[in-house]
Amino acid sequence: MVLIKSAQIIDGTGKPAYKADVLLRGDKISAIGTFPNKKADIVIDGLGLFLTPGFIDVNTDSDHYLSLFTEPYQKDFVRQGVTTIFGGHCGSSLAPLLYGGLESIRKWSDINQINVDWHSVGEFLKVLDRRGLGVNFGTLIGHSTLRRALIGEGLRDLTISDLEIFKKYINDSMKEGAFGISTGLSYAHSRQVPYSEIKELVQVVAEHKGVYATHLRNEKEGLLPSIYETLKVAEETGAETLISHFKPIYGYERDYQASLEILTPANVHYDTYPFDTSVIPIYTLLPDWAQVGGFEVIRTYLTTPGTRENVVKAISATKGDEIGDIRIAQAPGFSHLIGKTIRELAENEGLSLPETLIKMILLTNFRAVVFYKNIALSLAIAALMREQAMVSSNGASLPDDPDILKQERFYNTFPKFLEVVNSQKPISLEKAIKKITSDAAKKFGLKQRGIIQADNFADLTMFSFTPAGKMKVDFVFVNGEMAVQEGEARSSLSGTILRHNH
Ligand SMILES: [Zn+2]
Repeated sequence: MVLIKSAQIIDGTGKPAYKADVLLRGDKISAIGTFPNKKADIVIDGLGLFLTPGFIDVNTDSDHYLSLFTEPYQKDFVRQGVTTIFGGHCGSSLAPLLYGGLESIRKWSDINQINVDWHSVGEFLKVLDRRGLGVNFGTLIGHSTLRRALIGEGLRDLTISDLEIFKKYINDSMKEGAFGISTGLSYAHSRQVPYSEIKELVQVVAEHKGVYATHLRNEKEGLLPSIYETLKVAEETGAETLISHFKPIYGYERDYQASLEILTPANVHYDTYPFDTSVIPIYTLLPDWAQVGGFEVIRTYLTTPGTRENVVKAISATKGDEIGDIRIAQAPGFSHLIGKTIRELAENEGLSLPETLIKMILLTNFRAVVFYKNIALSLAIAALMREQAMVSSNGASLPDDPDILKQERFYNTFPKFLEVVNSQKPISLEKAIKKITSDAAKKFGLKQRGIIQADNFADLTMFSFTPAGKMKVDFVFVNGEMAVQEGEARSSLSGTILRHNH
């Protein structure tokens, strides 16, 4: 039994904070009240600390980076007060895998790191049950993962029978506990996917009351049409819809603002973060036409005289000098590149910026991940405060490794968000907490989480703000077990592998 005494409780419903004691028994909250004489195995003095439900990160990449396997404690999440994460975004998930291949996450990870011994969503979730995780985890079904397994690397439309098989796999996966489906419509494999296909598949998910999460077809000049397309799916299927990592990219702020104004339906939300830097696979900086056909085909574009020059010209024309500031964050097997900018590498190599970029893509075998500063920060922060916004890191808890440069977003999204709320007060702290707890739980249909009340699971975060306004996470409980103790993450595996509707 754990007794938390005299904490300032923000319960996740949006109602004003109040002071009380909270008693935990097993994995649940057993009572809230005043218990001056209660004995417990662990007593925590909560005086001066906020006690809230554990935060829910609705869009993470811990599956894409395979860190569910390489860093199962997910310490960078619990240190932020996050107790539940969702994966399977941007069209790519770790299940279902019809033939056991992980090709659709090759843009994030070396897929040979792990031994894949599952096919269905049900089998995948059982593998995670067995291995254990430090946070609760739920997955979406990656549209591209399934589509590529069904029809291969081609870009053709689906036949009627393809579509029937596709729907059957989605239906089965939903029954086995997937939370919905995601698309990654700006990626090469999905750009040509027609509206009708998305609608039919999302319809299946909607029947299960699941979520449709979409990485938009175009976040720049095609932003508004992409938003209209998403609104249409949301309206015609009624599915809970979530626009992934929705950010104001430099040069497109006006369209972004216009999009915010029309994102009003009750079933439509977007997730975003308070940072100015994107983290992207390096090859997505190539011109669109040079990203099609799989890595082997792209390699020939980049190495064949003639087409290579066209790629160089296209990069210069569209990206110009800004590619110099792109910084390499990950490059498996090439640790000397980590932290270097394309400009620094260009000077070393005596090459132009576009040529250096191409060289790095080839050298790292398409596997480098880069930081790209392309987001209008103040607009991103304002968007985060709106009713339709959810908070996401769109990041992963990565192992502490000198070969990985961690972007701040991966380990500091939630503290940063709450620090902004606390210092600038654009919304109340209670409302901000509701957004990252019960609102997120409701969106994904999570039961008994996201609100501090008796009989709910004991996912809890205790924190305070320093006089300088920095958020300090002191204690975190995941299903009643202490995952952070006095600011230190423990190697705890008390997360639950979540199943939708179970
Ligand atoms: Zn995405």
